[in-house]
Amino acid sequence: MKVTQHIENAKGNTLFSFEIIPPQKGKSIQELYDNIDPLMEFNPPFIDVTTSREEYIYIDKGNGLLDKKLTRMRPGTLGICASIKHKYNVDTVPHVLCGGFTKEETEYLLVDCNYLGIDNVMALRGDAMKDEQYFIPKAGGNDYAVDLVKQINLLNQGKYLHEVMDIDNKADFCIGVAGYPEKHLESPSLQSDLKRLKEKVDAGADYVVTQMFFDNSKYFNFVEKAREMGITIPIIPGIKPIAVQRHLQVLPQIFRIDLPEDLIHAVSQCKNNAEIKQVGIEWAIQQSLELKAAGVPVLHYYSMGKSENIRQIASKVF
Ligand code: FAD
Repeated sequence: MKVTQHIENAKGNTLFSFEIIPPQKGKSIQELYDNIDPLMEFNPPFIDVTTSREEYIYIDKGNGLLDKKLTRMRPGTLGICASIKHKYNVDTVPHVLCGGFTKEETEYLLVDCNYLGIDNVMALRGDAMKDEQYFIPKAGGNDYAVDLVKQINLLNQGKYLHEVMDIDNKADFCIGVAGYPEKHLESPSLQSDLKRLKEKVDAGADYVVTQMFFDNSKYFNFVEKAREMGITIPIIPGIKPIAVQRHLQVLPQIFRIDLPEDLIHAVSQCKNNAEIKQVGIEWAIQQSLELKAAGVPVLHYYSMGKSENIRQIASKVF
């Protein structure tokens, strides 16, 4: 079922959902199941599965030289979506990227999604690779998420990249896109980023999931501005609990988001990681309760492969 349909069926009640990351190449899927199992009691109508960008790895050739190879360290998004859908009878949302894929490869992926009965896809550009200064699309690939949304929307109308006759299995994907309450890091301003978001909506996006934020006022302000701009689709807040000291440095650095002083202070008073984790859980509970009271359609948690903190949060919120 489509994410938008789940939201409609909930009749104003806030739903619980979360995002998982495929395991590293060579690791079993069991750890993923072990982390999903405890979250199923909160009845997530859908689970997102991320797609990793390719990255360069360096292989020692044994003669003091290194071989540089481009590889995807966490493949398997679609396989995981299919297996979770089957095992838990829950909708899964594969993240589909511009980066690293040609339009043709994207079309093949979408055809597979359609065969697997996957009704939702999250359309994303992807970040620049570590040793790139800015995002470079693959030759023959989509430049921006808006181009990917257009491609998916055309497929929804039965328009493949090359003409196909006698279609009797038309795709009908519900399309999610990313939104940034504190603006995307490359964007000159929130207003300009919101215009880009509006372009994705006009191209056919059905709902938005936001980047993580730790101050709800950023989300409320973002939604207000989006509505003023004529964006009427659901805007689902993304929540990530702080779990380790390092998050205080890396989250603002990677995502260009602000951490509230009170949160920084609370973490700095902690004596160990267990205490930090607890502060993160408490913060996320307070955020979630306020967002739920404000009537958000879904609370979407970034689990980063670990579910214990999300379980503790959900048990207080749902
Ligand atoms: P876009 O919407 O294309 O925007 C990228 C930038 O370009 C923005 O600054 C925007 O303002 C600007 N822009 C947009 N259109 C144009 C245009 N036509 N001309 C000029 N500028 C333009 N990354 C992964 O690798 N895998 C994942 O699974 C993944 N999941 C995510 C899930 C969520 C909910 C979020 C919020 C992010 C996720 N990301 C993921 C990260 C995402 O790929 C990055 O944030 C990426 O840098 C931007 O992706 P986007 O889809 O927002 O890009």
